[in-house]
Amino acid sequence: MSSPITATRHHTTSGLRVAVVGGSLTGPTTALLLHHAGFDDVTLYEATPASAPLGGGLIGLEHSSLDILDQLGVPQHEFVPYESEAVMDISVCHRRPETEHRHLYAGRNTTWTLLHQALSHRLPAGILHTGKRVTGLTGEHGQPLLHFADGDNAQADLVIFADGRASTGRRLLDPHRQLHYAGYVAHRGQATSSQPGLRDFLRFEPDPRSGAQFNLAPIPGGTDWTFYLGATPDQYIDFFGAAPTRRVFALPQHVTPAARTAVDASARQLLPDEQAALVHDTQTRMAAAVMDIDPPTRMVWPVGTGHAVLIGDALAPVRPHTARGANNGIEQAAGLTAALNQHRKYGADLTTALDGWQHRHLPAAVASVQLGPKLGHRYGLGA
Ligand SMILES: Cc1cc2nc3c(=O)[nH]c(=O)nc-3n(C[C@H](O)[C@H](O)[C@H](O)COP(=O)(O)OP(=O)(O)OC[C@H]3O[C@@H](n4cnc5c(N)ncnc54)[C@H](O)[C@@H]3O)c2cc1C
Repeated sequence: MSSPITATRHHTTSGLRVAVVGGSLTGPTTALLLHHAGFDDVTLYEATPASAPLGGGLIGLEHSSLDILDQLGVPQHEFVPYESEAVMDISVCHRRPETEHRHLYAGRNTTWTLLHQALSHRLPAGILHTGKRVTGLTGEHGQPLLHFADGDNAQADLVIFADGRASTGRRLLDPHRQLHYAGYVAHRGQATSSQPGLRDFLRFEPDPRSGAQFNLAPIPGGTDWTFYLGATPDQYIDFFGAAPTRRVFALPQHVTPAARTAVDASARQLLPDEQAALVHDTQTRMAAAVMDIDPPTRMVWPVGTGHAVLIGDALAPVRPHTARGANNGIEQAAGLTAALNQHRKYGADLTTALDGWQHRHLPAAVASVQLGPKLGHRYGLGA
């Protein structure tokens, strides 16, 4: 006869119904990790009708995230567009490159599009439900119940909100944490021309008093650039048709001629000829308002007899210079899977497992939120 301790260690908890909300990067990573760990009741809900409609720019992934993707069996060549680990910081004075400082990044660059596709293609059939916009979550009658814009409902024991910067989950669970516009914009472009000899990630740093920074890197079929520039809330509306708190991402169809003209003018005023010409010649443009948020104080909430958690940008959208947004989401997803796996395989108390996950990952999310304004200040960007 087995001892009580042995019995506890081998106790398995099956049938945990998990709903993941958001089909961009953090959501699919979470769903895949759970699937690989043996969870067989995972559903991924994405608001947009198709799961990969957006062009998305460069994202730096650190070794910790790369290793998690490796464990999922996603080969790096599928989502890392170039091999270089080098970052070149170039100071610019009167539109001329002045000093160069080359260093190595402990990671590799991907693009949102490549990574999203690599993850989405691996989702087992039937997991992803597109066109399902979550609008509410209730739990007063027992299990958490998700409500969708189309009138449907879905029950789950655990709801994982990975629904990004303008998260519905955050609005429902943590309503006092609002987004604040930081006063500048990450204008993004994907040029179809390649800069001759471009192998590395280049960061052009005009005088900090100019309030600008320009990054570029090679991507398949061209060059990806990001140009950080100040813009008042009224200018943002003029550029992208809605306030930054409402339109946190401006897709190509939102970029007005006024935005193009202003970005081209700043490029001509601040960047060397070659980079100014690249900006001018770029047709496909997007933008992201740079936003701040109060640091999170928790990641887990009880809902009826179950739980809900916030993860990735839904928990803590961070300024892009931190290069931590996607990394945080992937690392949180792996930590959450480990905690849930202890519950599933060995009967660990679910609430305690989730608390342990929060205890481990909350400080990193808080640190990234706090780092953003410091880095922005260093580059003369934002308030
Ligand atoms: C210019 C720029 C540079 C960046 N560089 C880096 C970098 O170098 N390194 C890094 O780690 N990060 C970087 N980031 C941040 C990174 O892009 C984000 O952190 C990451 O994309 C967040 O992924 P996510 O899946 O958590 O959220 P999102 O990508 O925002 O996805 C949220 C998903 O949820 C869906 N959704 C929203 N609401 C609902 C709803 N109610 N119901 C159902 N679905 C919903 C959305 O349609 C979307 O698909 C950068 C960001 C920008 C803008």
